[in-house]
Amino acid sequence: METLKAHAKFHTAHRQLDYDGKCRYVHGHTWHAHVVVQAEAFPRDTTLDISLDFGTLKDIFKFLDHKMLVSERDELFLNSDLFEPEGVVVMPGRNPSVENVALYGMNQVIDVLAKHFQEREIEYHIQVNIQETENNIWTLEKTITI
Ligand SMILES: [Zn+2]
Repeated sequence: METLKAHAKFHTAHRQLDYDGKCRYVHGHTWHAHVVVQAEAFPRDTTLDISLDFGTLKDIFKFLDHKMLVSERDELFLNSDLFEPEGVVVMPGRNPSVENVALYGMNQVIDVLAKHFQEREIEYHIQVNIQETENNIWTLEKTITI
């Protein structure tokens, strides 16, 4: 079994629509994303003899750095007359919660693997761990075959 681990730190703002508490107001976090991908044997580039550039996974989260995370129902931040669209990233689901930031990360990791390792029928176990604060961590796991 081979294991690939990548870690990225990024700063964002978000708010939780309809939330009855302080998280309804725009606030920021320094997030930590830990991605773990396991396979019996990763395919390797024949020239370089490497599997996947760690930077490719880190870039998923670096893309979010210094941006506003929103859901698609947050009409205020999606108004391009008020906010620059390149500074706003839409998360899946009804709010840009830690659960949905992890889901966004998982979907992106799957896209990277599918693009990089096409149709080889290899099973990958993916774990995306998102730390919103020192005490708030959400982990999402998925096994897929690509
Ligand atoms: Zn928050």
